[in-house]
Amino acid sequence: MLLPHQPLQEAAVPSARMSARDQAGPWHSEAVCRRDEAGLFFAPSKEPTAARLSREEAAKRVCARCPVMVECREHALLQPEPYGVWGGLTAAERRVVLARRRRREAELQRATRVAAAG
Ligand code: SF4
Repeated sequence: MLLPHQPLQEAAVPSARMSARDQAGPWHSEAVCRRDEAGLFFAPSKEPTAARLSREEAAKRVCARCPVMVECREHALLQPEPYGVWGGLTAAERRVVLARRRRREAELQRATRVAAAG
């Protein structure tokens, strides 16, 4: 099964890295980026900052009208996908979301331990 925004993604995400859930997941087939310009979602080498920001904004506009944005974003967070725009988030934005989730989980675990200790 092809992932969204192929063919560029073929290099970044070898099919061997896809989980069984991803391979079976129906969301890929509804990805808007399968029909759009694949080059929007991954940076070419040595891309100037202004060009990167502009490309990422264009990719996010595609994601904003994608019916599987939530599923795609979760996929990219769970893998995690280290490159490209997925689910309307850049790699840097996904790192921020993951850090927030880890902090929240740690706080919850601390609170659970305190409650259990009475
Ligand atoms: S949310 Fe964006 S990257 Fe994900 S499948 Fe849709 S268009 Fe592609």
